[in-house]
Amino acid sequence: MAYANVIIDISHENVDKVFQYRVPKELECELSCGMQVLVPFGKGNRLTKGYVIELVGEAQYEESRIKEISRIDSSGVSVEAELIALAFWIRTQYGGTMNQALKTVLPVKQKAGRKEKRTLVLLASRSAAEQKLAEFQQKHHTARVRLLEALLEEPRIPYELATGKLHVSASVIRAAEGLGLVAVERGEASKSLIPTELPKEEAVTLNREQQQIVEAIIRDFERGEPGAYLIHGVTGSGKTAVYIELIARLAAMGKQSIVLIPEIALTYQTMVRFYHRFGERVSILNSRMSAGERYDQYQRAKRGELDVMIGPRSALFTPFSNLGLILMDEEHETSYKSETVPRYHARETAVERARRTGAGVVLGSATPSMESYARAKAGQYRLFELKNRVQQRPLPECEIVDLRAELKTGNRSILSGRLQELIEDRLKKKQQVLLFLNRRGMSGFVSCRGCGHVFRCPHCDVSLSQHNNGKMVCHYCGYTETTVKQCPVCGSRYVSGFKAGTQKIETVVKERFPAARVLRMDFDTTRKKDGYEQILSAFSNQEADILIGTQMIVKGHDFPKVTLVGILAADLSLHTGDFHGAERTFQLLTQAAGRAGRGQEKGRVVIQTYSPEHYGIQLAARQDYEAFFEQELAYRRLMKYPPVFHMLVMLVASRDSMFGSLCAELLAKKVQQAVEKGKVSELVMIGPADASVAKVKDFYKKVIYFKHEEYVQLVRVKDALEEFISRHKEFVDVTVQFDFNPMNGF
Ligand code: ADP
Ligand code: ZN
Ligand code: ZN
Repeated sequence: MAYANVIIDISHENVDKVFQYRVPKELECELSCGMQVLVPFGKGNRLTKGYVIELVGEAQYEESRIKEISRIDSSGVSVEAELIALAFWIRTQYGGTMNQALKTVLPVKQKAGRKEKRTLVLLASRSAAEQKLAEFQQKHHTARVRLLEALLEEPRIPYELATGKLHVSASVIRAAEGLGLVAVERGEASKSLIPTELPKEEAVTLNREQQQIVEAIIRDFERGEPGAYLIHGVTGSGKTAVYIELIARLAAMGKQSIVLIPEIALTYQTMVRFYHRFGERVSILNSRMSAGERYDQYQRAKRGELDVMIGPRSALFTPFSNLGLILMDEEHETSYKSETVPRYHARETAVERARRTGAGVVLGSATPSMESYARAKAGQYRLFELKNRVQQRPLPECEIVDLRAELKTGNRSILSGRLQELIEDRLKKKQQVLLFLNRRGMSGFVSCRGCGHVFRCPHCDVSLSQHNNGKMVCHYCGYTETTVKQCPVCGSRYVSGFKAGTQKIETVVKERFPAARVLRMDFDTTRKKDGYEQILSAFSNQEADILIGTQMIVKGHDFPKVTLVGILAADLSLHTGDFHGAERTFQLLTQAAGRAGRGQEKGRVVIQTYSPEHYGIQLAARQDYEAFFEQELAYRRLMKYPPVFHMLVMLVASRDSMFGSLCAELLAKKVQQAVEKGKVSELVMIGPADASVAKVKDFYKKVIYFKHEEYVQLVRVKDALEEFISRHKEFVDVTVQFDFNPMNGF
């Protein structure tokens, strides 16, 4: 006898509410997860649409109380059913519960009672509005004057601000509407996402290489066989232009597209470029929007009001009913992997969603991930290369500065002599400079120069970071301590922050170049809503000469006036205790270098490092991706790391460190026994060991790593362990999580 767990109302926050139904004999073979069914529901047994999320062998309720599924709903597969089936796949591939997977793929409706938000928008041009203003002033229409003055200062104001603080009555607003001066926008979600004053951008005509890619992919669509494609194009080769053309062609065929970007900071720039082509038929989704705003965008997508949805990872689940293409820009970025359960990778999940719906997938990067490039070489993805920048613009010239030599000559500054010289030159020429620090955080950790003591978080066992306000903060749990002037261990007064952060660099740069206008973009300066966008648009409007920042300034931004990029400490990403170190460094350096010389002037890059001989740094300076891939792959093969092997991490967390250790040992033994019995072969197991951050929020963490050439074998290990855990009550006091092919160390 089989039973099906069914959810009835998926548009609701509470997807946990599952109802169990009996599967009639005649449906047993046919029924599967994600299917739409009709079931008797409620007191009146009204026939209601539901979705099967799980099939089980045993009844969880008294048999007599379980109703039977009436039939499979054959009114066509809805996008919800498709996403639910995808959730099931996610759960199988990455672990976690069905409920966690469902919450990942389904949009959540906001609780009722939300008041509609209205916004007043200036419709008339500035000059027309100013003219009207003068006219109103003359006629002493004071309410209209107040309204126009406010709108000339800020082209969008909340309706309530006008009727409240500005004392402008609804009838005055209606009159202004009648004159075509203002418009009232209802519902904040749909339009307010698009800024009113968009910078102009000229439409481009694709060059031959770009055109060939578009044609090849469109041909596959016309044959009804779109596949997965990888566009490896050097920075500035015009990949985005290719994406836009592809999507426009698909839109003309009635197909919708999802554009995934690696981080929120890129939303604005990307959206602007797409807006020029698609106008109101493009929208964005991201986590800074309220649940209600997001839900509204999902609804617009479902109603067919959009051709393109742009957003980070989660935009992958946009409920387009005629999905044509999922496009993933900067596909190598680690942010495409979820850091919460289910720890899905958006790339694999995109390929799976596309496979199920007959859509295509385009991955694009100047530095493809080892995984994707290996797959492209193996023929799983079709590979396209754009080897040149558009309009014969040259790639920048890179030079490596050895910081050890710099120290020997007595220069202790963060800026090498060569970099200072070049910055000076660019300032004279009124060109722009990017200074890039490949780490997050402020001034790094605090240590004693006398004895080496490092200040650490008592809960998380990580070093505390020094902040400007005289405090040291834990970046995991937020624990704060006041910075002391004397070492608590040896009494030395040489206690200070170690290594430079972006703030420190800003200070140094301002001292050295007092006339330069400097902007800083990091975690602190972008915390505010729109923080990213403000800094980016200020820099691209040339309101500053130098932009200092972390990772977030190098990803995909296009600043034509930048002719110098300084990479201040290339080593910071190299020795992170994680096997991705060389790959990450190569990617960061190439991307950073890619920001130089995107306009008319040729660009130059200075890479400062303590390890100038490292292949990751050498090959990045030469911008030789192919050579890097080969060398890195040899290392991965030797060490049995991905992409040659797959990797599964099991994380065991417990408040009781002894108990957690015991559980981890026990699970390791289970796997060991299975290997010995021949149930799994060729499995490599490492650990258990302390996680690299062994204690977080008073939880002790142990990790076990498994490696195997076949992904499915690791899924079986996970399934067996999950099953074992669920059968043993002792495990209630520990949390066990799985992570396949982790992007960062644990
Ligand atoms: P990528 O995404 O590969 O870094 P972009 O698509 O951002 O490259 O292109 C870089 C710049 O070149 C952009 O300003 C873009 O408008 C311009 N561009 C792209 N394709 C062409 C073309 N065929 N002709 C002229 N300019 C182009
Ligand atoms: Zn000390
Ligand atoms: Zn902490």
